[in-house]
Amino acid sequence: MELTAGDAGARAGGTPASLYVEPERDAAEIRWGALEFHDVFKIYTSGPTETVALRGLELRVEAEEMIAVVGPSGSGKSTLLALAAALDLPSAGDVRAFGRSLAQLGEAGLAHHRAREVAVVFQADNLWPALSARENVATALRLARRESPEREAIEALAAFGLANRAELRPGALSGGEQQRVAIAAAAARRARLVLCDEPTGELDERNEGIVLEALRELRNTYRSTVVVVTHSERVAAASDRVVAIRDGRVE
Ligand code: ADP
Repeated sequence: MELTAGDAGARAGGTPASLYVEPERDAAEIRWGALEFHDVFKIYTSGPTETVALRGLELRVEAEEMIAVVGPSGSGKSTLLALAAALDLPSAGDVRAFGRSLAQLGEAGLAHHRAREVAVVFQADNLWPALSARENVATALRLARRESPEREAIEALAAFGLANRAELRPGALSGGEQQRVAIAAAAARRARLVLCDEPTGELDERNEGIVLEALRELRNTYRSTVVVVTHSERVAAASDRVVAIRDGRVE
């Protein structure tokens, strides 16, 4: 994707959030979404090449909403997730989680966001292969500094119908069960925002159903906000809302 004249300002800005001007709002009237993107640009520079991955993206996801993000390859979906997880910062514009601007959180605040508030579920390989399902969830809970990782791991696996799979390693679980363990870990951590990058991309229909059910459980029982990047029409149809991305902005 080539830069247009309109993107030049974002490129010149350099500092995250440098171009975004917060509209004046009466503090009492502000009702923050779980996740908000305001005029977000992300430009990757690699030698002389600049790629505009996000081009003025506007998005608001309400608390406890489950949205599907769809769009062609290269349209900016993974970049959107990376910014929401604070794994990267925008070139310009503002990304807010639960009302807090990620660019202004500082190192400790960002670490808190990544470790305590957000969980990311990838297409596969979300689990440590040498650990059992129970040890996987308990380890994730220890990293998130939960007080009772062992007990909460067992409870979460039971809640997601995995009690009888708890002592198995990932290699002995189906693809859908592995994803379900990852989602159970996100639930047990009480992650308020769960970001999924094609979580059913490698699964057959039956296993896709298993994952979909787990995502709904996450939203309905654990009240997480769920953002799912997907190519699956079934996952899109099961979401509250579908957001289509093209060329770095919402269509
Ligand atoms: P999608 O997830 O929709 O396939 P991405 O967010 O991965 O899209 O990528 C959007 C654009 O940004 C693509 O043109 C991609 O090549 C580019 N891109 C993504 N990550 C990087 C990176 N780390 N360095 C350079 N270009 C990147």
